Amino acid sequence: MHRRGFLGAGVTGGMFAGSAAAASQAPRQWGAEQGQPFLERNQSGKPHQGKMLAVIQPHNDDVPLFAAGTVLKLIDEGYEGILIRATNDDHAGSGATPAEVIANNEDDNFDIARRMGLKQVFDLGYQNHRLDDAHPIELRARLIFIFRVMKVNTVVCYDPWGHYEENPDHYFIASAVEAACWMSGGRWDFPEHRAAGIAPHGVSEKYYFARGPQLVNRVVDISAYVDKKVDVNIANDTQGPAGVNGSRLRRRLAEQGKKLPVLGDDDDTANRQYIKEFVLENDRELGREFGVEYAEKFHYIGPETSKLDDYITRNAVSV
Ligand SMILES: [Zn+2]
Repeated sequence: MHRRGFLGAGVTGGMFAGSAAAASQAPRQWGAEQGQPFLERNQSGKPHQGKMLAVIQPHNDDVPLFAAGTVLKLIDEGYEGILIRATNDDHAGSGATPAEVIANNEDDNFDIARRMGLKQVFDLGYQNHRLDDAHPIELRARLIFIFRVMKVNTVVCYDPWGHYEENPDHYFIASAVEAACWMSGGRWDFPEHRAAGIAPHGVSEKYYFARGPQLVNRVVDISAYVDKKVDVNIANDTQGPAGVNGSRLRRRLAEQGKKLPVLGDDDDTANRQYIKEFVLENDRELGREFGVEYAEKFHYIGPETSKLDDYITRNAVSV
């Protein structure tokens, strides 16, 4: 489930410091110029109106755990959104047979999308824990098609450069997404799409999350959305780790003549409190570090800016 991982921009800067060779190949700055992650706060109005967000996860529980607060915030700030799930989750969760496990997870996934305010679900249907058996170019091509058709501006996905990730599904989908983001804008990639009226459309913003250490340059304040993040995680019951485990724990303790006061006195309170106290503990600790109640962390990559365009804007004169 959760693992702490915070490879700060300052750490990377230190790794490169003091080397003339490294200085000539200075790493590109991705918004952490001061060595501290940028704290993304709530924005008033609908600044993202007209933009499309693709929320991408290999399994039901990934985005609910690591990024649902940010997804809820971005949708509230004007994005439309879709959910892409890479696998069918056939190796995760409850059911009498694998077919039941698939069906149960599918139901949960639709509910998760609805609770995050996402308007459409694309289930790619690869087998759980076997995404590395998929052909990488097929996977990339399917993502490019969706990015173009849905005119995706921004993705939320696993970090393709996160460290110590043991689940191949996580890093395979992440690296396919990273490549698809820029290739979807290429005029010579998949020219047959044009015949179907589908034009190239590049993806310019990325929020990458990770289970382990990653280069974090953005922390998002999700305090205003944490209760809705709890709702999203309650929907993820087939494989957990949230779902309705709080009420199960409360009943198990009651059979032993015990109770945890933090879980309250009814099932609904127990479910919500279990998630808020234990499942989202890392979000709370991260928030404390940044002076907010709850937070999520990302490696964020923003739109490319052209120095030539900037120069033209500042210096061009009428003739
Ligand atoms: Zn996963």
